[in-house]
Amino acid sequence: MTRVTIAKGDGIGPEIMDATIAILQAANAPIAFDEIKIGKQEYEAGFTSGIRPEAWDTIAKNKIFLKAPITTPSGGGYKSLNVTLRKTLGLYANVRPCNTFHPFVKTLHPDMDLVIIRENEEDLYAGIEHQQTPEVTQCLKLITRPGCEKIIRYAFEYARANKRKKVTCFTKDNIMKITDGLFHKIFKEIAPEYPDIESDQYIVDIGAARIADTPERFDVVVMPNLYGDIISDITGQISGSVGLAGSSNIGMNYAMFEAIHGSAPDIAGQNIANPSGLLQGAVLMLQHLGMGDVAEKVQNALLVTIEEGIHTADIYSESLSNKKVGTKEFGEAVIANLGKKPHHFPEAKLAGGKALVIPEPKRQPEMKRDLMGVDVFVYWPGKNPNEIGDKLRDLGTGDLQLDMITNRGVKVYPNGFDETFCTDHWRCRFKSHTPVTFDQIIALLQKCHDNGVDVIKTEHLYYFDNQPGFSMGQGQ
Ligand code: NAD
Repeated sequence: MTRVTIAKGDGIGPEIMDATIAILQAANAPIAFDEIKIGKQEYEAGFTSGIRPEAWDTIAKNKIFLKAPITTPSGGGYKSLNVTLRKTLGLYANVRPCNTFHPFVKTLHPDMDLVIIRENEEDLYAGIEHQQTPEVTQCLKLITRPGCEKIIRYAFEYARANKRKKVTCFTKDNIMKITDGLFHKIFKEIAPEYPDIESDQYIVDIGAARIADTPERFDVVVMPNLYGDIISDITGQISGSVGLAGSSNIGMNYAMFEAIHGSAPDIAGQNIANPSGLLQGAVLMLQHLGMGDVAEKVQNALLVTIEEGIHTADIYSESLSNKKVGTKEFGEAVIANLGKKPHHFPEAKLAGGKALVIPEPKRQPEMKRDLMGVDVFVYWPGKNPNEIGDKLRDLGTGDLQLDMITNRGVKVYPNGFDETFCTDHWRCRFKSHTPVTFDQIIALLQKCHDNGVDVIKTEHLYYFDNQPGFSMGQGQ
């Protein structure tokens, strides 16, 4: 018996989890379930992370977690438990397969059959945010080489293991040349290791438009966290209903399985929610556990139930459905169909599968690193860039001289445009032609402070192996 941690979560969570567990038990899945409590009631009981220490122990012991959706209370300083779980357990890959149930469930895209592979730990979800001045806030976007390597290799290994033909990469590296540029660069490094899999790349904006318009053109699509969050909801919705798709969150040691939708408080407690999303999450879990035969049995029973027109309210239509049923009754219909094969849909063939194992990413060797200057961020409520520019120009020492000032990334000094709107947050770049020392930077900052310049933060400018590791100013 494999022990799996389960949490019934909030809203419709208990209803869809009960239906899912009943199906897994009726299919004789060799699994024992350990239930933990997470979410709203735990937040309200004073556990600001939404989970008690004892529950972490159960998750750590079992390593596999089937989770119903939870409600994240807004405001009050509560952090999303979903993000905490993914990051604490190192669940770097969020895998969201999106296919349709055409012609039994309405969709504009009958032929779509794609998988979004979303990086799950980094990007803007590092959660490092600051208010820096009365007018300006900031969120750090972190993209790391090991993070990119893990998710991109996972995407190619997933494609190979699942007999998929192509992996597409979405980035915005025409704008974010260093962060998204790293993701794209590593994609180009890894793709040639998989000559049997086609690869291509889109800028995320046109890529997202194409996915919404012609999703059937895509196969496996890998992308950084935020784009993946947004685009996988779009693909879930256009496949028929957000209530249908399941997802897996995969790490080196842990894995968590869930539906892609949330706790749907608007329909909670009414026995009308569709349990298929969580059930398909459970099918992914069975495959991960090497229980492909049970996964196949459950998936085929789900396909037969949908073919029979036994539908929950979210996918029910007068013309396509035979019977509108509740959550519990839908689950009972799936149980009654265990052992049957679909007539219209291709039969699910999941037996013999096993968990994907990705090697630990290589650590980057030491690089030659030269400190070539510093960006000094300054709070100054004035309006005329020349005023602050002329003051700072006199503060440079030796080779370390004021190069430019930007406001919201646009160069405003020297020779800015009068029309450029300026906030109270100025990035003042001091650069040298030869490497400088940390002491020179400290001396510069001291001089700024002594002259009444309100320094709010600094960012060092490094060359790595003689290449600049920082972007130019817009308009520079
Ligand atoms: P939601 O996905 O819960 O609901 C969006 C809409 O889809 C609602 O109209 C809902 O009734 C419908 N819907 C969702 N699942 C359905 C199902 N299985 N069957 C039928 N209809 C279904 O999104 P939301 O309303 O934006 O979020 C509600 C809460 O869920 C929020 O607190 C949010 O933070 C949380 N959430 C949790 C997770 C998670 O636990 N993984 C994911 C997303 C949102």
